[in-house]
Amino acid sequence: MNWPKMRRHYFLGMAVNYANGEWFRHLLTVGKRKDYDALSRYLSRKYKGEAMLCKNGRSALALALKAYFEPGDEILVNGFTCYAVYEAVEAAELKPVFVDITKEDLNFSVETLETAIVTGKNVRGIIIQNTLGNPVDIKAIEAFSKEHNLTIIEDLAHCAGVRYKDMREVGTVGAACALSFGKDKAIDTISGGAVVLRDTCKHEIKAPSLLPKLSDHLKARFYPMFGAMSRGLSYIGVGGALMRGLVKIHWVERSADNKLDLERRPSKFEAKLALEQLKRLRRNGEPILRDFCFVHDRDKVLKELQKKGYYFNGFWYEKPVSPTRYYKKVHFPESDCPNAVYVAEHIINIPNYYTRRDLVAANKIIKEFQEEGNGRKG
Ligand SMILES: *Cc1c(COP(=O)(O)O)cnc(C)c1O
Repeated sequence: MNWPKMRRHYFLGMAVNYANGEWFRHLLTVGKRKDYDALSRYLSRKYKGEAMLCKNGRSALALALKAYFEPGDEILVNGFTCYAVYEAVEAAELKPVFVDITKEDLNFSVETLETAIVTGKNVRGIIIQNTLGNPVDIKAIEAFSKEHNLTIIEDLAHCAGVRYKDMREVGTVGAACALSFGKDKAIDTISGGAVVLRDTCKHEIKAPSLLPKLSDHLKARFYPMFGAMSRGLSYIGVGGALMRGLVKIHWVERSADNKLDLERRPSKFEAKLALEQLKRLRRNGEPILRDFCFVHDRDKVLKELQKKGYYFNGFWYEKPVSPTRYYKKVHFPESDCPNAVYVAEHIINIPNYYTRRDLVAANKIIKEFQEEGNGRKG
């Protein structure tokens, strides 16, 4: 079989899922106040609690933590995560206890939790992340949490719509759940988030009520269009330069730089789009964000991939707490989390929105360098 003459390009991230005209809709969708209400109502019903709409996922998570914990409490956090989670823990004045992961599902397990909890003295809670949409062994984690009297918070940024092995949907188990509607998340409207508080709160939480800043609103409107432009221009080799330029003049914001803000809501049009996406969620436990596998000599693999038109850099995650430019701030306990350190060095993500056929050449290259012990199926 022959490929078309024009070199095809395959990207991971950078608004690629908005390339097929979706960006147009994103630009023109008009949101109304009733879209806030409709989304809140839907979330309250689906997750059986009190829903509040937030500026982003980290703000949602921070509100959940403030509702159920005291400043100074320690909380168990997956040792392979996004800086946004660390920011939320900080904003709630809690201390993170990072727990090592397994290479199979990139989540902590009861075994790694057992090791961590003897170090922590004042551990009161646990954030379940279900990394890249791979669900934790919820029965075991629940039993562990009960035994140690931990309050469970579910972070649905990666996994909204996924079911645990016992068929309960993620977000229906803990005291609260936090959703992100940020770039490349399970629900993606560029920014926005929500928290659903289910159990009786220890501290009263004020729902965010301010509208987003105009600049944030505009960034969310235009990002998919910029993404599509950048992808189009990559055929003549200047797509990357355009994106870098837009980041430089702050028209495009890197996900990790989105500020935590407990007072603001998402834009109305984002609420409208988020509700549409929520209604379409129909998952059955398959990893939904990105496939992954481990390779040795990752830099070399990326170079080989780029030669064939695949740009798969921008991993989840490149450091145990990503991105690299914030990693130092976290003081991550590398010696306690050897698996997380290994995985961050060797992981490569394969975007799920390409077909098998698109990925034939990529898979061949990856296979050559692949290491044992990953969660990839076929
Ligand atoms: C991205 C992310 C969040 C929150 O994201 P926002 O960018 O604040 O919307 C929370 N948890 C995890 C694991 C994430 O990857």
